[in-house]
Amino acid sequence: MSNHYPFVLAELPYKYDALESVIDRQTVEIHYGKHHQSYVDNLNKILEGMPYLQNKTLEELMNSEVAAIKNNAGGVWNHNFYWQEMKGGEEGEISVDLGKRIEKKFGSLVEFKALFEKNALGRFGSGWGWLVEDNEGELEIMSTANQDNPLSLGKKPLLGIDVWEHAYYLRYQNRRAEYVGSWWKVVNWEWVGKR
Ligand code: MN
Repeated sequence: MSNHYPFVLAELPYKYDALESVIDRQTVEIHYGKHHQSYVDNLNKILEGMPYLQNKTLEELMNSEVAAIKNNAGGVWNHNFYWQEMKGGEEGEISVDLGKRIEKKFGSLVEFKALFEKNALGRFGSGWGWLVEDNEGELEIMSTANQDNPLSLGKKPLLGIDVWEHAYYLRYQNRRAEYVGSWWKVVNWEWVGKR
């Protein structure tokens, strides 16, 4: 897939109802087909009038000082990531390597999940909760506002949960904790482990 203008909506790696155990079909349809698509369309619309930015990568555009570029580029990147890191079917198991690193850093997988959830719930308003790796390969849990991305802070996302209301409102309404707590069932650990 091309990583510069014109950007295209990345293919959804499964059917709309594949995540039904946690995220209902209509939410995926709207979240992917409307919200994610809008970030792609808005970014292209802005860049249409800025030829000197048309060869910039998504990652470069995420660092733009122009808020509309930064927000929409982040929206595209974050949602590409979000759909890839999930899967339908049986609940997956964390890879041995990542499991060991998580245990070393956070004590256990259970303690890690609790911290990750607490962090995602603590994000006021719209944003994302992340597990990231810094330059030294150290794991860290953090959150960002809006469509900001840890890459802009020199940290590599390994796992990220969208906690904008549009990600969960139809099924969970105001119960963000229930969405975040259920979300583990659809994490594609195999994909995450490969990062
Ligand atoms: Mn979203």
